[in-house]
Amino acid sequence: MYIINFMRRYFFAIFCCWAIVLPAAPLQAQCNHDDNSDAWYSWFKGYENQLVDYFPLSERDEMIIGDSVHLEMAKQFKLSDKYERQSYLDGIVKRLSPHVERENIRYQIHVIDENRTLNAFSIAGGHLYITSKMVEWTESEDELAFVIAHEMAHADQKHGIRKVQKVLLGETLGEAYLGKGWGEYGKLAGQMANAAPYGQTDEYEADREGALLASKAGYDPRKGLRFFEKMGSKENYDMFEKIVRSHPYSAERLKCLDIYLREELKR
Ligand SMILES: [Zn+2]
Repeated sequence: MYIINFMRRYFFAIFCCWAIVLPAAPLQAQCNHDDNSDAWYSWFKGYENQLVDYFPLSERDEMIIGDSVHLEMAKQFKLSDKYERQSYLDGIVKRLSPHVERENIRYQIHVIDENRTLNAFSIAGGHLYITSKMVEWTESEDELAFVIAHEMAHADQKHGIRKVQKVLLGETLGEAYLGKGWGEYGKLAGQMANAAPYGQTDEYEADREGALLASKAGYDPRKGLRFFEKMGSKENYDMFEKIVRSHPYSAERLKCLDIYLREELKR
């Protein structure tokens, strides 16, 4: 009984710290492993992951959730069912897939018929999305493979499914500690923890893991640098905007990726 009470307090204490610490996240999102604030934030993020993983969802559940979210995506975006380079994209996904950590997740890439917007994203359960503009805009298969590998890395590193787990966790703790009806507020807290800027550290992780994935599949991950170079030329740095952005600036990502490739991957 004592252990159970201790565990309950432990969960609740971390959940409270979570709400207090999270607003600092966008300022902390960096890639320099020697930086104290980054080390501190990574430490905290590790605990956060540990906490949400006490309420796990199986990979099967993750794919079921992913399939239902995909139905919503299909309503929201114009998905192309006859894209002329679909088999080319499928080939890249097939080449990258054997090198992911969670081998049971099935990856499928969907093309959004959009010739003006550069975008790619993924959801839990292995559904990947890319606009036709993005496919055409990349200059080589290696560069495109880096973009796709980045999206696969988000799913492989559980970035999407942990967002679902956070909402479930907030709901469960709200109900358990504050009483009936408070689950909705807990759910809201979980949704707030998923707000855009708090994903910046996930972006750095997906850049590193995506580069590793591309490299294992025999692609040149240094072509990812070219991608950020081009994206960076479209962005103007603004310190205040940085705090609310979902993604770090491309110039910062380029610098981080270059350090990772040279120092860790020796590329
Ligand atoms: Zn991303």
